[in-house]
Order: sequence, then structure tokens, then C-alpha cells
Amino acid sequence: MTAKLIDGAAVAKSLRQKIAEEIAKKKLNPGLAVILVGENPASQVYVRNKGRAAEEVGMKSWTHTLPAETTQQELLEWVDKLNRDPAVHGILVQLPLSKQIDQNIIIEAIAPEKDVDGFHPINAGKLSLGLPGFVPCTPRGCMILTAEAEKNLAGKRAVVLGRSNIVGKPVAQLLLKADCTVTIAHSRTKDLPALCREADILVAAIGKPEFVRGDWIKPGAIVIDVGINRVEDPANPGKTRLVGDVAFSEAAERAGAITPVPGGVGPMTIACLLQNTLQAAEKLGGPS
Ligand code: NDP
Repeated sequence: MTAKLIDGAAVAKSLRQKIAEEIAKKKLNPGLAVILVGENPASQVYVRNKGRAAEEVGMKSWTHTLPAETTQQELLEWVDKLNRDPAVHGILVQLPLSKQIDQNIIIEAIAPEKDVDGFHPINAGKLSLGLPGFVPCTPRGCMILTAEAEKNLAGKRAVVLGRSNIVGKPVAQLLLKADCTVTIAHSRTKDLPALCREADILVAAIGKPEFVRGDWIKPGAIVIDVGINRVEDPANPGKTRLVGDVAFSEAAERAGAITPVPGGVGPMTIACLLQNTLQAAEKLGGPS
């Protein structure tokens, strides 16, 4: 491997430490409320990790677990209650939601000043306009990791694979704000390998295991792998392992810097959620 390994776990740890120091120094009392609907095992793990991470940095955290059959109206009532609770600075509704609930209606019901996921149209609009607001956590983490490899991104060619509202589009906005020349690719894009070979910065967020091959990478490029895919582990029959959207060992032979999976973007998502919650608490104030 010739690329520098961008250690997301270490960067996230240091960010969490800084957040804890800030909370103690400013005597803040940030509160993060998480709503989980149903019993999706992956969501249960994410929610547990978020709650634990919040408490570790000195935040209050509440997890409200609602039954899978919760109606949209009942969930809206929960969101309204948390919107009005002065001890709650950040509200996160864990996605995906059950079929009977319209995700967009729920996201729009969260008070934008408590929308620490940064998914509310007001925050998405602010990001697009270059105004301050909440930046979605995973994209925010991608930018911090990119800065580990290169501080000055002005004039760089960036290619973002994936155009979701939670990763692809906001990452592209942030790269644009950092003065990159940005292309967003998706499932209908023609000749992805050729496009990727132009990228000084390549962000992969498509959810396809090891889709991006080594010879797609421009020599010296920064590769940020957002994908989290569980696949069979050929070395351990019957067991699974996590891989990204990039064929890591091939890409690491050509890239200048690369994030691993696991231990890259993943840990940054929770750290940035805590950072957004701290930002909300500083703005909103409230009981201490
Ligand atoms: P979505 O499924 O919402 O979006 C996937 C995007 O990839 C779509 O825009 C889709 O294009 C595009 N795409 C799919 N197949 C191809 C292809 N063959 N060629 C080019 N583009 C393609 O996924 P998310 O954005 O939510 O997540 C992406 C990945 O990131 C997943 O692996 C997810 O698990 C991971 N993730 C990781 C997080 C972390 O904390 N590290 C947080 C969030 C997500 P189209 O729009 O045309 O369908």
C-alpha cells in the first residue's frame, strides 16, 4: 500500500474529546433526543451508539423507542413535544421509518434549529445557498477527513459517486463551497471509470461493495469511501465482514490518501452529530 491511511477512528476520537472539553469549559448542558420506530437491528445499534457517544462527551441523551405500528400522527406528536422541550437541543429521528410514515413529513416537522441531522429543507437550502445551518453529519465527516490529506482544495477536481440527499448531494455542496470543481455521478452516468480517473478527490457513496476498482483511481488522489456493505468473508466461511464501495487494497496502490472501511467515515458520522448538537445547544441555550 502506498497511500496514506486516513484514520477516521482517531480523528473522530480527537473531535469527541474537543467537544467534551468545550461542553465542560462553557458549562453547557446539551441534550440529544433520538426517536427509534420499530426494531430494525441495524438502527437499534446505531441509536445505542449515538446515545452512548452523547453521554461520553457530557451530553444528556434520551432514546424514545416507539412500536413499529406507530402512526404518522403519533410520531408527529412526539416530534412536536421534543420541539417544545427546552432541555432538548437536538432531535434525530432514526431512518428508515416504517412504511406507513412519510419520512419527508417527519423531517419537515422537526424544528430546523434542532435538526442536528441537517436533513430539514431549511438546512438543506441553507447549505445550498452557502449560509450557516446544520450540515448533515456524514458529509461533514467526509470534509474533515479530506482535510486530513489536503487543506487547500481550491481548484481540485472532485467526483462524488451517489446523489442521495443525505450523502451525495450535501458532500458535493461542501466540496463546491471549498472551491472544488465538482461532478456528481449516479446510476445513469456513462463511463464511470473514465470520470473517476479525472478526480483529485473521489467520494464514493453508492452502497455497492468494492465497486470502484483500483485502475479507476487517479494516481495521488484522495479517496473517501462512505459505503458500508456487509459481504461474505471468503477467509471465514459462514461469517461476514464490512467493505466499502471502493476495492480498498487495489485503490490504496494508486491513491495518495484513502479512508478504510471500517474505521474511516463511519466513526466521523457520530462525532459530527455530537458537534451539531453542541452547535444547537450553544445557539439555543436552555436549562443547565
Ligand atoms: P442511497 O441508496 O440513498 O443512494 C445511492 C446512490 O448511489 C444513488 O444516487 C444511486 O444513483 C447511486 N448508485 C447506485 N448504484 C450506482 C452505480 N452502479 N453507479 C453509479 N451510481 C450508483 O445511498 P446513501 O447515499 O444513503 O448511502 C450510500 C452508501 O453510504 C451506503 O453504503 C450506505 O450504507 C453508506 N452510508 C454510510 C454512512 C456512514 O456513516 N459511513 C452514512 C450514510 C450512508 P441513482 O440516484 O441514480 O439511483
